[in-house]
Amino acid sequence: MFKNYDTIFDFFNKRVMTEGQKLSVFSTMHKFVSKFFTSKKLQQVMEYTMVFLGTSPYEAPALYNLMSHMDFNQGVFYPQGGFYELIRALSNIAEKNGAVLRTNSPVEKIIVRDGKAVGVRLEGGEVIDADLVISNADMWFTETQLLDIPQQTHKEKYWQKRTMAPSAFIMYLGVSEKLPSLIHHNLLFSEDWRKNFDDIYKDPRLPDEPSLYVCAPSVTDPSVAPEGKENLFVLVPIASGLEISDAEKDAYADRVLALMETEMNLPGLREKIEYKRIYTVADFGIDYNAFKGSALGLAHTLRQTAIFRPKNKSKKVENLFYVGAGTNPGIGTQICLISAELAYKRVHGITSAEPMTSL
Ligand SMILES: Cc1cc2nc3c(=O)[nH]c(=O)nc-3n(C[C@H](O)[C@H](O)[C@H](O)COP(=O)(O)OP(=O)(O)OC[C@H]3O[C@@H](n4cnc5c(N)ncnc54)[C@H](O)[C@@H]3O)c2cc1C
Repeated sequence: MFKNYDTIFDFFNKRVMTEGQKLSVFSTMHKFVSKFFTSKKLQQVMEYTMVFLGTSPYEAPALYNLMSHMDFNQGVFYPQGGFYELIRALSNIAEKNGAVLRTNSPVEKIIVRDGKAVGVRLEGGEVIDADLVISNADMWFTETQLLDIPQQTHKEKYWQKRTMAPSAFIMYLGVSEKLPSLIHHNLLFSEDWRKNFDDIYKDPRLPDEPSLYVCAPSVTDPSVAPEGKENLFVLVPIASGLEISDAEKDAYADRVLALMETEMNLPGLREKIEYKRIYTVADFGIDYNAFKGSALGLAHTLRQTAIFRPKNKSKKVENLFYVGAGTNPGIGTQICLISAELAYKRVHGITSAEPMTSL
């Protein structure tokens, strides 16, 4: 996780080849989980994390059971005040260390001179000179939209062949009263698990029988909703690239809410909604320049993992680096923070596999 891979030998080292065998890299997650759990519901609990890495438990290497180790043995954390508090904390640290942060300043071009990145041009024309450029934008976007074709390490054709992690049908809801049947994290699994995954990965469509993740942060954090009310985030994983009309969105929202009423013991939920915002595939594309409107980016299939994932340094442009979910180690907030360490190590030529905190 904390090492930049340059060759296959950087990954398949002695430790991975010996201790790594215990992770059953060559079995599928579903087969591995089935060895320990016969109950279908428990299998679903152990396999649900896979949705967010962009492949199904029937295809994913058993290696990714590591995620369940993190969930169940190490625990899930929530920043009090909501996720934005994490962003606030990071920007405080950056500013304390002399960084100048400029938000709402979209970059429209990475400026390359004599094969070297020398700055960026913002929308509106302002040019910012730089000794080096590190792009955190979606990697497809950085490569194909911010660079000219000869400067692209991975061209459009490469991206068209990639597997993308799912997008999401999200509802942000403000509810007029407390909902005692909910806890902070709630999962509802569809009965036909395999079909649900097929609706996301094989035959992309709005799932007939969706699985839902419902987050009710106001259950544990009173600062995120007015007193006596509830703040809900409802997420249905759906295929990236899906085109959904406004009428379809409204109809699907109603269907998901009806499902929550009956299956999550929330009678009359629809009448209690004071605020509703739907956020889905096209929004991820418009707001975040996300390829195919994926919520998460490049999927973690075996062939898009570790040495097979795009590297964090351009092959074509000197002094151009990448950070974030599209490069190593991959998807997830903590994982993306590790990718920042990897970018730092790359820039400074640090080859150690230890986390920066221990160097
Ligand atoms: C709904 C949802 C729930 C999630 N829940 C979790 C969770 O519970 N735990 C977890 O670990 N992970 C979670 N994730 C995944 C995690 O959020 C992502 O993997 C991670 O945030 C990706 O980080 P990033 O830095 O690669 O990209 P981003 O966080 O998307 O940052 C990229 C930034 O680049 C900006 N940008 C794009 N184009 C330009 C441009 N031209 N100029 C300037 N800036 C630009 C974007 O506006 C954006 O701010 C979730 C993701 C989603 C969508």
